[in-house]
Amino acid sequence: MKYLSTRGFPQKKSFCDILLEGLAPDGGLYLPEHYPHIDAEELKKLESLFFQEGYASLAFHLLKLFIDDIPSEDLKELCDKTYTKAVFGTEEIAPVRVLHEGLFIQALSNGPTLAFKDMAMQLLGNLFEYELNRKNQELNILGATSGDTGSAAEYAMRGKKGIRVFMTSPKGRMSPFQQAQMFSLLDANIFNIAIEGVFDDCQDIVKAVSNDLPFKKLLKIGTVNSINWARLLAQVVYYFAGYFQAKKLSPKTHISFAVPSGNFGNVCAAHVARMMGLPIHQLIVATNENNVLDEFFKTGIYRVRSSQDTHETSSPSMDISKASNFERFIFDLLDRDGALTNKLFSTDIDAQGFFDLSADPRFQAIRHKFGFTSGSSTHQNRLETIKDVYTKYQEIVDPHTADGLKVAKTCAVEDEVVVVLETALPIKFAATITEALGIEPSRPKSFEGIESLPKRVVEMPADLQQVKDFLLENVK
Ligand SMILES: *Cc1c(COP(=O)(O)O)cnc(C)c1O
Repeated sequence: MKYLSTRGFPQKKSFCDILLEGLAPDGGLYLPEHYPHIDAEELKKLESLFFQEGYASLAFHLLKLFIDDIPSEDLKELCDKTYTKAVFGTEEIAPVRVLHEGLFIQALSNGPTLAFKDMAMQLLGNLFEYELNRKNQELNILGATSGDTGSAAEYAMRGKKGIRVFMTSPKGRMSPFQQAQMFSLLDANIFNIAIEGVFDDCQDIVKAVSNDLPFKKLLKIGTVNSINWARLLAQVVYYFAGYFQAKKLSPKTHISFAVPSGNFGNVCAAHVARMMGLPIHQLIVATNENNVLDEFFKTGIYRVRSSQDTHETSSPSMDISKASNFERFIFDLLDRDGALTNKLFSTDIDAQGFFDLSADPRFQAIRHKFGFTSGSSTHQNRLETIKDVYTKYQEIVDPHTADGLKVAKTCAVEDEVVVVLETALPIKFAATITEALGIEPSRPKSFEGIESLPKRVVEMPADLQQVKDFLLENVK
């Protein structure tokens, strides 16, 4: 299996070549040159394999279709080591539960940081360690986070050989729980840097370091952002697992997924699963007030927002100005025309801030051919949904999951079960739960009292040179 860029760069690469890379050299995103097809018979085999041998085994069988440069035994070992009850809390890893006969929830948020990013990041940590060891290399990950991504990366990379993580975050702006989660990691290879500023200041510093190529090379700096193909690939697995469980629980003809979306990483994995032949009926894209994606699926116009136009909401992990994985879907939509994708995402977006596919017949076929539908949600919707779910089912859902539930309701059709992905546990966003219900969500035992644990964090002004000096001091 070779990988190509969405912008038409001629050279193809293998999985391990792109594993530690970010963007392709032409600024595009990597995709496999084709999607392996799973026919009905093979799907049946995977289904019984999942119920007999479990999630790790399903992951191995799916991943090996995309990865041909890691020996099978090693890949199997990596999957077995990653997807365990000890790390993800249940035997099922991503269990599906019933709210009512047409509405299920799939929990992706029982990993170490209580958000779905663990599902992929835990595998990435093991893949990185394996590949760096094989190449006899080191990697220093530099990132910026406003919450979920940074802590998932740190929990995945802690204690890993050959890897250090330097994570910048805006000082005092994450929730107390999120701060405690990150800063209480005392591992020698994890460095928390609290920047006096906002998230954009952190991101600007990371970008400036990445653009300083000699420095980047000298210190072997890399990233783990959501455009990494391996992360997306790891997410494909839980759609299969979710589909099999839903099918077992429901006699309905159609099975669909509703996905709380920001950067389009999660739902892009659903798109890949569907392209492989998993018979998902609808892919329901749920956004919050930052409705870039909902606008596209409704109008055919993809319009990037300015930072002034990007709202701070109560489902903050979906607060995006553009959806960084969206280019992957557009490339498929346009029959994999790299030149046209390049024109849309570099020329059109740079010149006018948007592109318009409303007149393209391929846009008209999106729903039929690719299954996509969409909707958006507001703070008020979120509060009402949280209250409604609590009243009807005595369950507390987090605000992102509430966005998924709200939109699922508006998109559901006859004889269909919609599986809403639970992307975080409510305790991470306790303030919104308290606003909706007047009570605090409970927290898993292992997180009791984390706010009072010793902390390891350095504080710095938003100053590029000071961050660079800190990296130089700590990379030995
Ligand atoms: C990251 C995140 C999302 C958005 O996922 P994308 O892959 O960026 O679409 C939704 N909910 C939570 C809790 C997240 O952490």
